[in-house]
Amino acid sequence: MRKPIIAGNWKMNKTLSEAVDFVRQVKALVADVRDIEIIVAPPFTALQAISREIEGSTIELAAQDVFWEPSGAYTGEISPIMLKDVGCRYVIIGHSERRQYFGETNESVQKKIKASLAMGLHPIICVGEALEEREAGRTFDMVKNQVIQCLEGFSPDEMERMTVAYEPIWAIGTGKTATPQQAEEVHAFIREQLGQITNRQVSEEVRIQYGGSVNPDNISDLMVQPNIDGALVGGASLKAESFSRIVKFKKA
Ligand code: PEP
Repeated sequence: MRKPIIAGNWKMNKTLSEAVDFVRQVKALVADVRDIEIIVAPPFTALQAISREIEGSTIELAAQDVFWEPSGAYTGEISPIMLKDVGCRYVIIGHSERRQYFGETNESVQKKIKASLAMGLHPIICVGEALEEREAGRTFDMVKNQVIQCLEGFSPDEMERMTVAYEPIWAIGTGKTATPQQAEEVHAFIREQLGQITNRQVSEEVRIQYGGSVNPDNISDLMVQPNIDGALVGGASLKAESFSRIVKFKKA
């Protein structure tokens, strides 16, 4: 059984005091939730404070990116050991905004995964097609390339520690969610690809989250799909009320 996983990606939002105030609200709202893995991914500047705030709760901490070297002259970068040190369990790698604005490639994603796993972090790897690619009927090709180029070569044991997030770029921050059927067919396809890279048993254990304009109203229909194991939420994760309603989707 794959435990559902709901992660809030705050992107470049919230000052330190806003972040702490926000997570206190979320903590209270989801205190009774045991059957969902809840993750928040604040900006780097709030990681330490949030790490302290969530101690003893069921909320886990993720970073939004990482660099692959352990230390050294890499101005502006943050290493896996630093994330571990500050209390992160997860790290988002290869988000489409990193790919679009900061030159992230499948090759750099792979290096980041490797370095993160070596530090005991759990990577959340983002893949997904652009609108032109979907319209040209190239969704499956694009996703397959990303999955293979980012994930090939990892052992079954390493693969089991990863989560894949399918985030169609045209659905991110646009209010256009993929239909549950559109998402499900790509999730099933990703699982099949994971099976080919490792084996069927491992692919059945890896959780695949959907991301792209998830909100309290569409989460339930997405989560009933057999291959959708959770959500990576951007905009709707910035308000405690909407994020907690997403986390509590079953009870809605
Ligand atoms: C995201 O950035 O990962 C995301 C899915 O954003 P949104 O929920 O705002 O579409």
